[in-house]
Amino acid sequence: ETPPGRPLRVKNLRKEFGGLTAVDDASFDVEAGSLTGLIGPNGAGKSTTFNCITGVHQPTSGSVHLHDEEITGLRPYQIADRGLVRTFQIARELEEMTVLENMMLAPRAQRGESLWRSVLPGARGGVRDQERELRERAWETLEFFEIDHLAEEYAGNLSGGQRKLLEMARALLTDPEVVLLDEPLAGVNPTLEEKLLDRIHDLREEGYTFLLVEHDMDVIMENCERVIVMHRGRVLADDAPAAIRENEQVIDAYLGA
Ligand code: ADP
Ligand code: MG
Repeated sequence: ETPPGRPLRVKNLRKEFGGLTAVDDASFDVEAGSLTGLIGPNGAGKSTTFNCITGVHQPTSGSVHLHDEEITGLRPYQIADRGLVRTFQIARELEEMTVLENMMLAPRAQRGESLWRSVLPGARGGVRDQERELRERAWETLEFFEIDHLAEEYAGNLSGGQRKLLEMARALLTDPEVVLLDEPLAGVNPTLEEKLLDRIHDLREEGYTFLLVEHDMDVIMENCERVIVMHRGRVLADDAPAAIRENEQVIDAYLGA
């Protein structure tokens, strides 16, 4: 059902909370290897859309496909196993663990055969190999985000920006294909913001696909090749940044918000 080159497809997605319609028949798809922005005034339904895509909420109706597979209503870990993740804030318990320990606790990629290989006869030592492999990947990922010097630091001692880098690093350890980022730059200083955006572009060039919610319009316009605008739960526009800038309905939605 999902066209080739469009790993994520959301169709007629609807989420009601009691009498309130937070997402109102939203449809869009996301191109492979793209950085697509999702914007809209406060309360537009962006986070609820993310929650429905990633299995945190059960949609009232509509569907979500990852490639040819319908993932609507699956549990978050099942969706992560299939290669779609979102970043999560570091929970309080994890603040009392070091950065490296946080990485080692990140859900392991269970796609492919890795899980099976470890339980098959003849794979003795496999668990230890996996442990070593995970540790190596954890270090490489920390190096990639330039927070390896903080490996032994308690996560609770990190700055807001360093925390965001760790959240990204953790998400990537699950070996995802599509990554949903909900305001990953909130509270991040300009230096780290640049670093995070650079890393996102690096990963995109390697074929990772990103859907980014960010309230800083300049960041969206400068970094995304395509922008989806939500307003009152609906998709108001879906276009290139230059066209979005001049879209009267979008301008009205923001001024009237
Ligand atoms: P955005 O992320 O675009 O700011 P949200 O998706 O967070 O918007 O919210 C969309 C609407 O849904 C808002 O009116 C919000 O109050 C409501 N909403 C979000 N989550 C819940 C919830 N768990 N229960 C009830 N209403 C919710
Ligand atoms: Mg939100």
